[in-house]
Amino acid sequence: ERKKLGKLKKMPAVTKDGTEITLLANIELPEDCTAAMEAGAMGVGLFRSEYLFMGRAGFVNKLPSEDEQFESYRQAVAAMKGRPVTIRTLDIGADKPLDMAEQTSLNPALGLRAIRFCLAEPQMFLAQLRAILRASAYGPVKLLIPMLAHAFEIDQSLAMIEQAKAQLRDAGKKFDPLIPIGAMIEIPAAALTLPMFVKKMDFLSIGTNDLIQYTLAIDRADHEVAHLYNPLHPAVLYLLASTISIATKAGIPVAVCGEMAGDMKLTRLLLGMGLREFSMHPTQLLAVKHEILNSDLNEITPSVKKILRSFDPMAIAEAVNQLNQAGA
Ligand code: PEP
Ligand code: MG
Repeated sequence: ERKKLGKLKKMPAVTKDGTEITLLANIELPEDCTAAMEAGAMGVGLFRSEYLFMGRAGFVNKLPSEDEQFESYRQAVAAMKGRPVTIRTLDIGADKPLDMAEQTSLNPALGLRAIRFCLAEPQMFLAQLRAILRASAYGPVKLLIPMLAHAFEIDQSLAMIEQAKAQLRDAGKKFDPLIPIGAMIEIPAAALTLPMFVKKMDFLSIGTNDLIQYTLAIDRADHEVAHLYNPLHPAVLYLLASTISIATKAGIPVAVCGEMAGDMKLTRLLLGMGLREFSMHPTQLLAVKHEILNSDLNEITPSVKKILRSFDPMAIAEAVNQLNQAGA
């Protein structure tokens, strides 16, 4: 059994019909790269950089310095041995507060979080961007921006990345000038205006945790409404499928990095929507790979098309069940 598992780790994730699927790892700290490599991840699809910032008493003056961040990012790049590392800029606030005591907003999930916070703290954001850029001199790095919803946020973020590059050039510091820049699609407004993102971004990554929260108006951290948090709600499926389809048609790589990507009961559903890149907690990787190896896109794709036409939650759940039984 252990030998079988070891073999699975080294095997590429290919469907029965021969389609290659990319399986990536979500990490919180550079040390997590060991588990990612151990599970056979092809790279890091989501480095949640906020974990370098959290749990520090105080506020902006206690944040990790540019050099300290650079060391952490470079450590991850080295540990992944040439496999791409997607570093997400600070996604602070709501369920991941910088400092519990600082949280005063009545609706933190709708407040000054993630990219909104970064654009309001340009010096802090520039320091992080420089740290990420400097790490890109040591191996393939991609830069991912969370919680974008407005065109001006995209433009301001891109302008600040250019500013950080100029600062590094002036300082004679090395970086990858062609570093790919991507957007998290996790606010319904972003999914509904996807052509705007496709035009300006090199890649996309769908954050289903927040996409579900904001689509269904359910606080992902509130236990009292946890029973309403349904990844199979037809509205969620619609936004997922349309994002994957529009990005794919435009030739822009698209991944899912929310919890849905690591749920083997949803692997076939996502494959049938056309998803070819999954990023998940390293512990989920082998189970999802096993599911992929047993899946045939020729069978799945028409069934998923049918599921996407349904508005009946019971019928959808039953059809997903059926999908998972087929050919197993
Ligand atoms: C998500 O929202 O799905 C996501 C991947 O990011 P986080 O869970 O860190 O908000
Ligand atoms: Mg998110």
